[in-house]
Amino acid sequence: MARILLIEDEPSLITALKDILHEEGHRVLAVSDGETGLEWILERKPDLVLLDIMLPRIDGLTVCQAARKHGVQVPVLMLTAKGQVDDRVRGLDSGADDYLVKPFSTRELLARIRALLRRAETEEKAALHFLQLGDVEIDFVRMEARKKDKALELGAREFAMLRLLAENAGKPVSRDDFLDRVWQYQLFPTTRTVDNHIVKIRAKIEPDPRQPRWIHTVHGVGYRLDASARLNGAEEK
Ligand code: CA
Repeated sequence: MARILLIEDEPSLITALKDILHEEGHRVLAVSDGETGLEWILERKPDLVLLDIMLPRIDGLTVCQAARKHGVQVPVLMLTAKGQVDDRVRGLDSGADDYLVKPFSTRELLARIRALLRRAETEEKAALHFLQLGDVEIDFVRMEARKKDKALELGAREFAMLRLLAENAGKPVSRDDFLDRVWQYQLFPTTRTVDNHIVKIRAKIEPDPRQPRWIHTVHGVGYRLDASARLNGAEEK
């Protein structure tokens, strides 16, 4: 299950794609102009973008270029109109990962989406596998944590929350970001749930949970991992 942002202005195609993607278990956000599409790529951090080229306000190629300029690595699958061969080349030049020519089959669309999501997941795993916070070591690949020589019991959500904090080390992560990325709104938790989990994580990893050394509270926003946290730091051993 992934969060897919669909940027497409053809109503019948929007309806059809939503149905197909929902059936596959994905969550779909749909917008019909390039300007809003770009905003949503930046703000809502989807797992994958389906991007039409001919769009109102800003075309798909420009949207993709702008997203890459902002450092967004999300997989982008470009949807090009039949016969516009140049668009395929320009699409890939603009930073898209793949393209599909309309009209495409459901099977082909889903196969491309699966391939892109798999690739992104592999890259993400390779990107961050280890976090060290003082004498606490967290291995995201093995899902193991230890403090000095003692194993720490962390739940799957706690690993996921620490990972999200580590991916954004030094920057605040909002409560909504946690809900979006860790809970994915499956259980409709409240932002209070996030706070409760942070309390539990702090009790396990902080030298003094009342005076957090690693997970700082950012008032009115959420939490921030201290920028001095060591990521993938095994080479210093
Ligand atoms: Ca269009």
